Amino acid sequence: MKNETKKIQVAILGGGITGSSIFHILSKYTNINSIALIEKAGKLGEINSKENNNSQTLHFGDIEANYSTEKASSSKEASQMVVRYLERLDKKDCDIYKKSHKMLLAVGEKEVATFEKRQNEFEQIFPNFKKITKEKIAKIEPEIVSGRKQSEKIMAGYSEDGWVVDFGALAKNLAQEATKNNPNAEIFTNTKVTSIAKKDGGFEIITNNGIFWADVVVVAMCSHSLMFAKELGYGEEYSILPVGGNFYTSSRKVLNGKVYTMQSGKLPFAGVHGDPNIHNENETRFGPTANVMPFLERNNIATFGDFLKSTLSDKQSAIALLKVLSEKTLLTFLLKNLIYEIPYFGPRAYAKMCQKIIPTLRYEDFKNGKTKAGIRPQLINNKTQKLQMGEIEIEGEKILFNITPSPGASACIKNAVKSVNKTITFFEGKYSFDETAFKKDFLS
Ligand SMILES: Cc1cc2nc3c(=O)[nH]c(=O)nc-3n(C[C@H](O)[C@H](O)[C@H](O)COP(=O)(O)OP(=O)(O)OC[C@H]3O[C@@H](n4cnc5c(N)ncnc54)[C@H](O)[C@@H]3O)c2cc1C
Repeated sequence: MKNETKKIQVAILGGGITGSSIFHILSKYTNINSIALIEKAGKLGEINSKENNNSQTLHFGDIEANYSTEKASSSKEASQMVVRYLERLDKKDCDIYKKSHKMLLAVGEKEVATFEKRQNEFEQIFPNFKKITKEKIAKIEPEIVSGRKQSEKIMAGYSEDGWVVDFGALAKNLAQEATKNNPNAEIFTNTKVTSIAKKDGGFEIITNNGIFWADVVVVAMCSHSLMFAKELGYGEEYSILPVGGNFYTSSRKVLNGKVYTMQSGKLPFAGVHGDPNIHNENETRFGPTANVMPFLERNNIATFGDFLKSTLSDKQSAIALLKVLSEKTLLTFLLKNLIYEIPYFGPRAYAKMCQKIIPTLRYEDFKNGKTKAGIRPQLINNKTQKLQMGEIEIEGEKILFNITPSPGASACIKNAVKSVNKTITFFEGKYSFDETAFKKDFLS
């Protein structure tokens, strides 16, 4: 295909959980008949969606203390769609997810009071999310109580309906399912997009693996979507605060299920949490820490230039970034996280912080120190000069750009349906979305 232009109706650029979900829904629930998923890596789901780059949590909003009731209701609806898909998987694919209990832990008088107030509202949305006291916590997660000061008050919200997901593996599965018995849905890996340009009423997409031409394009490259949007004159109202971080893994099994902690609603990050690793339940991952870094992809220094293009290329974006970084709550949070980066002292300080969950946890429990997490592209609204929670989709003329910080993976199907419906409108009545079939598979 190197020398000829490959013509398609819809090109989806980026094969993480977002792009793979859009590819799946477009291929299986519309009558558009030529769709390409284009990914620069050798496999799908290898960047932020990869299992060791994120927390593997299907976010419903019950244990996420920084979610509002509106955000929680919308997350619940989105995650239930993912659950419907997981429940339909073949037995051979069952290592993509695990069912587990989950908890939101409040520690100390102040947090317990905040938790109890929140719980009254959140129990309405999540009837199976119940308040439990120290005695019950000790039965479910003994290490939370063991070694804790008698005088320290604790309480938790508890649910048995937790889901742990390998979103990278799910991306692969969604895309593979889309190509089954469908020769018109094609996947191109090892294909890096270098430019997208308007041409002949559609788009010319130049890659290292040849040229594509598409009527409609959906860019699903996480942080990189904003860079391409700006190159085409869209998304000027946004910039990105790239937040990396690390996980610390305890080789001693200390938790049986996910345990999240209380967190300020002003921050778009979850508080420290402990999560049994999906592929090794004897390991518990703590984190992620949050460090601002000038890259759009972790372990990829070459993306420094891409960060400049997406966020520092114009005055408005640069000012908004500085304004956000100087906001007191965020600045304090980020400075605190910098401490954990200091050699020798940092991991020990982090282990001490994790004692909020497991009082007996020691630095020695962290097997090989830390592992790197992916990058959360926290969106900044340049007009309000404030951080914006969650994912966005920028709409251009016959082109969409998806930018997906957490909980983007949990919202993959719901966001995909939104993108697919918009894609259909670009074709002005030529194609349709089979809502009945979609509802049967994802909403019944
Ligand atoms: C530390 C951390 C913890 C998180 N925890 C959770 C969690 O518990 N639950 C949750 O729901 N979400 C979580 N998230 C968020 C979640 O990981 C992301 O929202 C999700 O993975 C985004 O998926 P994506 O497909 O948009 O991006 P990615 O998975 O990053 O996929 C983008 C794809 O685009 C490709 N690409 C980029 N540039 C090009 C190019 N030029 N040409 C071709 N392809 C290109 C990349 O190779 C990549 O495969 C977390 C994120 C982080 C960083």
